[in-house]
Amino acid sequence: MDMMIAGKSMREWLDSFPLLEQIRRYEPVHWLNPEVQGEQLNSKTVNKKDIAEAAERWQRFAPLLIKLFPELSENNGIIESPLRKLDNYKNAYLTDVLGEESNFYLKCDHLLPVAGSIKARGGMYEVLKHAETLALQAGLLTEGDNYQVLASKKSRQFFNNHSIGVGSTGNLALSIGIIGTALGFHVDVHMSSDAKQWKKDLLRQHGANVHEYRGDFSEAITAGREKTLQNPSAYFIDDEDSKDLFLGYSVAAAELQKQLEAEGIAVNEQHPLVVYLPCGVGGAPGGIAYGLKQLFGEHVHCFFVEPTHSPSVLIGLLTGLDEQVSVQDFGLDNRTAADGLAVGRPSSFASAISRYTVSGIYTENDQVFYQLGYQLVQSEELFVEPSAAAGLSGPKRLQKMKQSLLKKAKSATHIAWSTGGSLVPEAEREKIYQKGKRFSE
Ligand SMILES: *Cc1c(COP(=O)(O)O)cnc(C)c1O
Repeated sequence: MDMMIAGKSMREWLDSFPLLEQIRRYEPVHWLNPEVQGEQLNSKTVNKKDIAEAAERWQRFAPLLIKLFPELSENNGIIESPLRKLDNYKNAYLTDVLGEESNFYLKCDHLLPVAGSIKARGGMYEVLKHAETLALQAGLLTEGDNYQVLASKKSRQFFNNHSIGVGSTGNLALSIGIIGTALGFHVDVHMSSDAKQWKKDLLRQHGANVHEYRGDFSEAITAGREKTLQNPSAYFIDDEDSKDLFLGYSVAAAELQKQLEAEGIAVNEQHPLVVYLPCGVGGAPGGIAYGLKQLFGEHVHCFFVEPTHSPSVLIGLLTGLDEQVSVQDFGLDNRTAADGLAVGRPSSFASAISRYTVSGIYTENDQVFYQLGYQLVQSEELFVEPSAAAGLSGPKRLQKMKQSLLKKAKSATHIAWSTGGSLVPEAEREKIYQKGKRFSE
């Protein structure tokens, strides 16, 4: 049974990339990217100016966001998350890896306001940009206006004549559904079978139309794209190929830089920054890694984490096929409890850039995600969803992946990026916690 993948037989792929043998057996693996660049990346598709423009757009929308979501007034309408030092976690689980002079932090995107996950960055940004474009075209908004006019009855009626579609395993739909309906848009979310019931319930409460699919993310996004594009006034947010999602995420880098400065943490040759990012299609980690590379160049090292059953970005970058290949092509089932990462095919836009910005990728079993989440509750009293705990094993995995970096950098700053969980209902939390406990005993 020699099936062909992008013109080559499975045998040829396995001979060229022996790591695929282990990947196909669902073993946890790591891969170091031979093409990672130290310096700032000159990309044809995205540049520093794009990130600056995205940051300005968030600023323009801040007054409107305060009006729509009053809880944002505390932070002047800017969507940000805390950076939290994890001394207890480090002392409990990482002392054999990280020396006294190294820091371990959690970038708490699970606490991002409004959407409760990292998708508050990319998803909300793309909806806001689309709303701005429509409103400027229609003359509802002119440059220099206070954007609170977009919360007026007239604007809402206008947006009510437009719809937005999206395919998602859960969190992207939540962010699009919440901001989209708040502005008055019709929102159609196309959910894969991984999507949790509570996420669908919450979306319906917000007034989004929820379409459910039996298949995985690829099926939901393909059907969603097709249905959305049948309506000429509808807009599709395409997680498999979106520059705007990417840019929305990239702004997080400057936010982190500001927070590191406030902590008195330098990033330089003697003090590198190592960041561990949970990865689905690769848009969120890709946008953040790109932003961080622009700011810190060779002194930042970004690693992506994927489930052993859904290593889509790993297979795409390893083989060089990017979005032209899915994990199913290599015989994997794309079944994982980490629903935020349950993606079989990577984003084409993000992959083309991550090829030069990501230092490496490692995979973990679902069981490990539960254990890590349990350890975080035990040591720091912080709850995150299984997908979002993935980065916590980063320093341990680095020991095997790139010991030279650990040795060279006696005082490095390691950051696990936690990506979702604050909206998870109490009963679900308990189930996740109990599972983590069982796996840890
Ligand atoms: C979406 C998501 C990610 C990864 O983002 P991608 O853009 O799909 O790579 C990680 N964690 C959680 C909880 C998510 O919802």
